[in-house]
Amino acid sequence: MKSMHDVVIIGAGVAGLHTALSLDDDLNVLVLSKDYAWECNTFYAQGGVAVAVDDDDIPIHIKDTLNAGAGLCDEGAVDILCHEGPVVIKEFIEHGFKFDKDRQGNLLYTKEAAHSRNRILHAGGDATGRYIHQFLMDLLKFPILYNTQVTDLLIEDNECYGVRVFHNNEIFNIYAKKIVIASGGVGSVYEYHTNARTISSDMQGICAMRDIALRDMEMMQFHPTVFVQSSAVRKQLLSESLRGEGAKIVDEDGRRFLFDYDSRGELSPRNIVSQAIFDYQQKSGKKVFLDLNSFEEGFFMKRFPSIYFNMNNMGYYLPIDLVPVSPAFHYAMGGIKSDLFGRVDKVKSLYVVGEAANTRVHGANRLASNSLLEGFVFSKRVALDIKLTLREKKRVVKFDEVEPSLIKVGDKELKNELRNLMWSYAGIQRDEKNLQKALNRVEEMLKLSIGKLLRLRLLSSREIIKSALKRKESLGAHYIKRSGT
Ligand SMILES: Cc1cc2nc3c(=O)[nH]c(=O)nc-3n(C[C@H](O)[C@H](O)[C@H](O)COP(=O)(O)OP(=O)(O)OC[C@H]3O[C@@H](n4cnc5c(N)ncnc54)[C@H](O)[C@@H]3O)c2cc1C
Repeated sequence: MKSMHDVVIIGAGVAGLHTALSLDDDLNVLVLSKDYAWECNTFYAQGGVAVAVDDDDIPIHIKDTLNAGAGLCDEGAVDILCHEGPVVIKEFIEHGFKFDKDRQGNLLYTKEAAHSRNRILHAGGDATGRYIHQFLMDLLKFPILYNTQVTDLLIEDNECYGVRVFHNNEIFNIYAKKIVIASGGVGSVYEYHTNARTISSDMQGICAMRDIALRDMEMMQFHPTVFVQSSAVRKQLLSESLRGEGAKIVDEDGRRFLFDYDSRGELSPRNIVSQAIFDYQQKSGKKVFLDLNSFEEGFFMKRFPSIYFNMNNMGYYLPIDLVPVSPAFHYAMGGIKSDLFGRVDKVKSLYVVGEAANTRVHGANRLASNSLLEGFVFSKRVALDIKLTLREKKRVVKFDEVEPSLIKVGDKELKNELRNLMWSYAGIQRDEKNLQKALNRVEEMLKLSIGKLLRLRLLSSREIIKSALKRKESLGAHYIKRSGT
């Protein structure tokens, strides 16, 4: 394990596994997964993959993505996503992947909020992520090291030489010519979230610690319809496509109050729906529900089998029962700054792709189901750049293999305090006073005797708070609450 690899990929979600699929078979590649392979956000994705239906739809997909991104998108990145998306998805289908089809064999496309037409491909009904993940795992041609947490990047003179890992109670280094961060977002820094338990912003924290640029970290997306009343850390998401296909949001009196906020009602962009639900709950003190009564029972079980099964396990019989919902943290638009080939800013041999990356393809707000597509499209570009540069000469540098304590007594309580702090003060509605309060407390915690893993979470959280403080006006997912509003 300690030998030199051509490529080390940190993460086994769509971004990491599709990077692996796109690399030449004869390379010496190692994939690292912090936990079991399926403990990643890719596995839990429900709705599907947004992709232009035909050539005429490409400019419309671009427009929808730019509109959702609220002026913060990199137009070049969006252009790549929407133009290269159909090509990459076609290749994936040619590999043998089966998206859902109708009886005549035509691909089924559904609609989600802020898409101006049906262009979301799905698989296994609402199990798109699980199907994609399983398929990519089956195609994986390189070894994967499970239960392996990257704790540092090995960097000297602005070049990356590998990673330091914690595996089997041991700390050691893994060296590679190219290192790809595909470690996903930041879910666990928030109290209520939909993310896999592995998604705790370690790599964003390591980058902050090493002065590697993070960008747009204030841009955190909250999903409007999450069942948060369970004790599980990862809260059950109720996919956007439910609303796309007719589900309503009502208060305890059955009133569709979303229209008070936006004439598009349930089909408003997710930041608007999240903010509206949050605001309405605070102002009225009323409970909010997802009403699925427009679905025919048999159809619902077939179209949304995972949601049906999971909610049934929690005592809700769908589509009959109303489901109490609340917004929860869902997706990080902000991340590690990279160019359009995933090259990390100012660090040679280091790449980032997927939710961990910030190419500005999502701008200030991600259009629903654009992130799996991002994982597919940009990983192929990362693999292409690796192919073109792998044979360049690289020095051999050795790093020590020591790490300060990863976990210390008392970290758990502080971690929970941080999650609450981030949810309350750097969540859906923000204001300067509370953000400053959060920042002060995070700075205090950073001065305590704490383990490295908590330190990394704190460093990522500090980046989110500082970016939020810098952006004085509301934009996309970043919503500043003014007094009286
Ligand atoms: C419930 C849910 C539903 C969603 N539905 C959709 C949808 O329908 N359509 C859509 O487009 N998007 C959806 N998303 C978003 C989408 O799933 C993610 O953005 C995308 O899957 C991220 O892929 P990724 O490969 O970048 O990261 P992930 O799939 O999250 O994988 C990250 C990997 O990194 C590993 N890792 C993390 N830290 C470390 C470390 N320190 N050391 C080693 N390994 C590490 C993890 O173990 C994991 O293997 C959904 C997200 C959630 C949570």
